[in-house]
Amino acid sequence: MERLQKVMAHAGIASRRKSEELIVKGRVKVNGEVVKELGVQVGNSDRVEVDGVPIDREEPIYFLLNKPRNTISAVSDDKDRRVVTDLFPHIEQRIYPVGRLDYDTTGALILTNDGELSQMLMHPKFNIDKTYVAKVEGMVEKHTLTKLEKGIVVEGKRTAPAKAKIISADKAKNVTMVELTIHEGRNRQVKNMFKAVGHPVQKLKRETYGTLNLDGLRPGEWRELKSFEVNQLR
Ligand code: URA
Repeated sequence: MERLQKVMAHAGIASRRKSEELIVKGRVKVNGEVVKELGVQVGNSDRVEVDGVPIDREEPIYFLLNKPRNTISAVSDDKDRRVVTDLFPHIEQRIYPVGRLDYDTTGALILTNDGELSQMLMHPKFNIDKTYVAKVEGMVEKHTLTKLEKGIVVEGKRTAPAKAKIISADKAKNVTMVELTIHEGRNRQVKNMFKAVGHPVQKLKRETYGTLNLDGLRPGEWRELKSFEVNQLR
């Protein structure tokens, strides 16, 4: 048995607090009866409806995917390009990606059907570290790393403190491999940060997401997360 608001939050209806508001307003029914008190517990066989629409009571499931290039971080695409859920053909649960990586970015991406965890991880205040390895144009200098670390203005807003280090540099090809760890998740943030310091990104990979890394996963491969790994994300 679980608290009604927790079940609603897991199903992605709203945060627990917002779910409590829906309950108090009389918009939630359990087995056909309006429930207005908080603290009601529901089991797997109880039917929960919000505004007359039954909610999905699937067991939460969590995956770590090494997203390949040329794949959309979505569950469908109007241009019929490959989407990340195409890589899970035998998974019956309706999973979706937590946030997004660009079409041409590879690396660590979580997919789940747990709406509550997903909302939490995507919330701007939830500062989970993400480490990227970027192949960028030009020879990156120390003072540029310092700029990236201290924060630069991207689309009118200063980026939060980050960590940056050079992994290797190839003078002949005029490219540098840089590791950048950020905890924000703004749209195209890494590419925009490097562009702002004059080093356009040629290739981008997300190596880690919180404590999760891609060990043992080639592009396109995934594994289910263990419960301790899910707990570390919370
Ligand atoms: N930053 C980017 O610019 N692209 C990504 O895919 C992820 C982070």
